[in-house]
Amino acid sequence: MDVQERDQYAIFKQKFFDWFLSEEDFTDLPRIIQALITLLQKEFHLLDVTFYVLNPFKHAFEPEVTTDCMIKQRREHASIPFDSHLKEQFDDVMIIDDGSEIKTVQFGVYFSEDSCSLVRFRIHERDMLPTSSIKQMKHDFLKVFARIRKVSEVLSEEKRYEQLHRATTKIHASMNIGDVLEEIVKTLKDVYPAFTCHLFLSHDSTTDRDLPIKLLTFENEDEHMGAMQAYVTGQIQLHDSLVHKKSVIYAPIKGAQGIYGVIEMIAPTVMELPEREMRFISLLANTAGSALENAKLYEQSKRLIADLQLINETIHHLNTNLRFQDALQFMIEKIKTSFDAEEVGFIILQEKERKVLPGSTSFFQSREAKAYVDFVFHRIQHPRDTLFLGDVKIHSNDTKRFRSLMAVPMMRGMMKGVAIVLHQEAYHFSFDMFKLLQSLIHHSTLAFTNAALREELERMVITDRLTNLYARHYLDERIQRSMEEDGLGTFILIDIDNFKKVNDTYGHQVGDEIIIQVANIIKANIRQNDIGARWGGEELAIYLPKVSIHAGVSIANRLVQKVRELTNPPVTISCGVSYWKKNRVDSVKELFNRADEALYTAKRAGKNRVVVQEY
Ligand code: GH3
Ligand code: MG
Ligand code: MG
Repeated sequence: MDVQERDQYAIFKQKFFDWFLSEEDFTDLPRIIQALITLLQKEFHLLDVTFYVLNPFKHAFEPEVTTDCMIKQRREHASIPFDSHLKEQFDDVMIIDDGSEIKTVQFGVYFSEDSCSLVRFRIHERDMLPTSSIKQMKHDFLKVFARIRKVSEVLSEEKRYEQLHRATTKIHASMNIGDVLEEIVKTLKDVYPAFTCHLFLSHDSTTDRDLPIKLLTFENEDEHMGAMQAYVTGQIQLHDSLVHKKSVIYAPIKGAQGIYGVIEMIAPTVMELPEREMRFISLLANTAGSALENAKLYEQSKRLIADLQLINETIHHLNTNLRFQDALQFMIEKIKTSFDAEEVGFIILQEKERKVLPGSTSFFQSREAKAYVDFVFHRIQHPRDTLFLGDVKIHSNDTKRFRSLMAVPMMRGMMKGVAIVLHQEAYHFSFDMFKLLQSLIHHSTLAFTNAALREELERMVITDRLTNLYARHYLDERIQRSMEEDGLGTFILIDIDNFKKVNDTYGHQVGDEIIIQVANIIKANIRQNDIGARWGGEELAIYLPKVSIHAGVSIANRLVQKVRELTNPPVTISCGVSYWKKNRVDSVKELFNRADEALYTAKRAGKNRVVVQEY
């Protein structure tokens, strides 16, 4: 370099130094390079300057920063192949002279195996710099660039850690899985705006939020290989993806107890990611992992508490609400809401017959349900057998509408049956739900058995053993209650005519059967709310609450007719009918007396008839 050249170069250095001092932010590398090449262009009267970065996949230099508008616009067509010719001359200053006044000058800047750049500028012949100046420029450029890279690294690292700190605080403050995932994605986008981020999550970690989430599966192995590798090994992976033609990072989202997913970050270009960048991403992924773990544990414990509450509430209800039917209804309702079940059925075995307990959803009365009930009973034979099927289709030959099925046996003492829970969607119930159903059924079977036993006992107490009609004391009770609550009622007292003769002719056994026949005729001819009872011996009675004397008499007449026609050996009956109405002084005893008088009248009048006692 001669004196003049040295001066010119010194001026450039001075200007560079001024710029360096005035520059405040060294974190944005492309912007810094842009400033640097703009300065170069101005000081050395260059027509344009372009800074290229090597894309090792394409074996070509691609323009990263340029002052050339043409290149800016057609960036993808401006790459320079890294061929053997260029490789040979890479360390030298190359001047491309095509004979015109505009000369193209370029030099390589080598950082590492995969990381090198190319600086290219165009200059007018009259401004042409001496090779020594360009060499000096190349030398300084390499030094400055290396320094700036270092400074930028340190500064951006500092900034990263600040961001990491902020993100960590925020992520850890959240107890909701969706919030944690959202915060992770947001942080990644903040810190690496140029990267494309995805979260690979295992099936049980997903959320319904709109986040870039992919399901971690063993299928699609080629595309997901990096993610799978990170998930399985727990180590961060850097892949140069052939699919994306870009570098991809896979960082496992790791907690203390396990790995919950993988962060996928696709770099904007092929880039060498320094150790510290990988460390940073690892840290972020670990933070995410422990936060996700916390949120999961929190949600798990919330769910456990809710499960216990459900069991507790149900058992409490079963034990306090004494009616078996109400208890069952309550339980079925709980199962429907807690498990989001479509159909719930309780089926018990009674004298080898399957009986769908009332309260089960109406589906279980249908013909279609039979296939499911058969299927379940076939598979559940012992108290310890259970059935949890994500997809019934896999286990059954014929097509079935409901694909998710849970079935748990209820077996204790005389109670033998199963609870069946269905949903049309496959894999609708989680294993946790199944476990909950098991404990719910397990804990409630005893209460159910007790309730059923208690009701059976109650029924026995108020039932006449020979006829299965109500016992006399229950009839008394019901009439008493009706006279307090209702407006009117009719009472029919029935006596079998000449019964002594039946006994004498056919024997006591047949006499009993005749009483049963008459009782069955009564049962068949009264409604649910009417009380048919054994009054004593061969005398029976019916109380019809809220039924007028007129209607009562026609029922009595119908009975007289039916008994005459249907009994075998044939007998007849006589009926005495009495009634009561509100606002008249009356009593159960007087109601009975009036019926008794009427019956007496009927007998004297020739039997086989109905007599009403007016009052
Ligand atoms: P009436 O038409 O006047 O009623 O003539 P009756 O023969 O039915 O006379 P009464 O009502 O006085 O006699 C009832 C007889 O029914 C007396 C008893 O031997 C018989 N009896 C009472 N309870 C039972 C019973 O549970 N089983 C059988 N087989 N006979 C009974
Ligand atoms: Mg009698
Ligand atoms: Mg009699």
